[in-house]
Amino acid sequence: MTETIPQPPAAETDDNPERAAGAGLLVLAPLRFEANAVRRGLRESTSRVVRTGMRGGKAEPSQWGTFGGMVVMGTSAALAADLKPGDLIVATEVTDGERTVKLPGADMIAGELRRAGLSARAGKVRTVSSLVKSSQRSLLAADGSLVADMESLPLVAGAAGRPVAVIRAVSDGGVGPGMVAGGLAALRSLRLAAPVAEAWAAACASRTVLLAGPRSFCAGVERAIEIVERALELRGAPVYVRKQIVHNTRVVHDLEERGAVFVDELDEVPDGATVVFSAHGVSPAVRSDASTRGLSVIDATCPLVSKVHAEARRFAREGYTVALIGHGGHEEVEGTLGEAPSSTILVQTPSDVAALDVTDDSKIAYLMQTTLAIDEAESVATALKERFPRMRAPGSDDICYATTNRQAAVRAVAVEADMVLVAGSRNSSNSVRLVERSERAGTPAHLIDDASDISLSWLSGVSAVGLTAGASAPPAVVSEIIDALSGLGTVTVTERVTTTESVQFGLPREVRH
Ligand code: SF4
Repeated sequence: MTETIPQPPAAETDDNPERAAGAGLLVLAPLRFEANAVRRGLRESTSRVVRTGMRGGKAEPSQWGTFGGMVVMGTSAALAADLKPGDLIVATEVTDGERTVKLPGADMIAGELRRAGLSARAGKVRTVSSLVKSSQRSLLAADGSLVADMESLPLVAGAAGRPVAVIRAVSDGGVGPGMVAGGLAALRSLRLAAPVAEAWAAACASRTVLLAGPRSFCAGVERAIEIVERALELRGAPVYVRKQIVHNTRVVHDLEERGAVFVDELDEVPDGATVVFSAHGVSPAVRSDASTRGLSVIDATCPLVSKVHAEARRFAREGYTVALIGHGGHEEVEGTLGEAPSSTILVQTPSDVAALDVTDDSKIAYLMQTTLAIDEAESVATALKERFPRMRAPGSDDICYATTNRQAAVRAVAVEADMVLVAGSRNSSNSVRLVERSERAGTPAHLIDDASDISLSWLSGVSAVGLTAGASAPPAVVSEIIDALSGLGTVTVTERVTTTESVQFGLPREVRH
């Protein structure tokens, strides 16, 4: 079976004078029906389509004129077995097996296409010199290439350093009626992808990235991840982990791939198995349950969370009512509440303070969740102090050093940036607080798990991007985001370091070699 691409007519350029004069999006499409499909999807008067002919040889770069960003768009032959007609591949790189051109930012475009309702993924594109026979597919796929085409490599080389992307639609649907249906599905996808290509071109610009320091992993998160890694190494898979070890999708996924099994509750763990308690801590009831079940426990609770637990126990022992300032439902808060459930009351806002019902005004103390916004927590603490002037405070700050430092650092970049990106997962309390901190400084901010979550519309008109990562987000994600932004134009990275960190925590004896 061969790829169902008809022979090309001669190259042609767009005949719309308004579009031809524009400097927005330039689309290079090999064949007439591909070019027409893209044209039907375009919305902006500054977008242009140049038909390049098969192998890209019918249109010279001298015909391309000025443009903000260039996208090669056309159909392609599937090499990966799980692709279906109409699926879109955004090239991370294009190669002919000898020469390779890397295309940063493919994940960002693929994410935007998925948000537009299309089936899209980022991956390697192979450029070949003749139509692909079915017998060649597995050979071509051996290097990880997802699709094959006949034009992308020579065309992207013509961009000469300007922003360039490749979006190919899978067209092959088998011999017979499937051929036509596959071609139509591919053309439909190209048409629907055209506005995304325009949004990408509108986001193309040179930028400054203001990198907040400190950012990313804290000592407690590094320790928790290392505990699971060592448990896997010493005891072998599976190692069960109660709740997410830290609140980050990438970290959890990576550990899952290595044999960790994440469960919500202990009843999902087989008797006698190894279970790791997450960095957020657990209540004594969970410890007792694990002991009754004969589970082999390795505790990855952050020592700074354990410190808050110890304070809760001490205050309760001394007859105090403990007002715990925190967010209801968060695992850390659940664990701390469980240390002295009859003596601890959750207080989330200043208005909760007025409603507090305590028997002895002279015997009240407060504690805090470790990952709160400092100013927000202080407003609740102030309300408590006003109502209970003799209230006891924790021995040392409960909001941990990592939370405090990352909030100061994001503020430092937010005051200079047009927009801030925070790498972190939605359930990461300290990451969400960084978004709020930036917004309180007057700068819009967005929480993203990785570059694929970046909406291209956020970048339009933005020349200075602030970038940070929550304490549970891996440093590699920050590098990937910078790399993705570099696909839109030159990126100059400047770091703003507000403090340096040297905190380290020891490992529990169960995983010390
Ligand atoms: S954010 Fe703070 S409390 Fe939480 S794991 Fe990191 S160091 Fe520990």
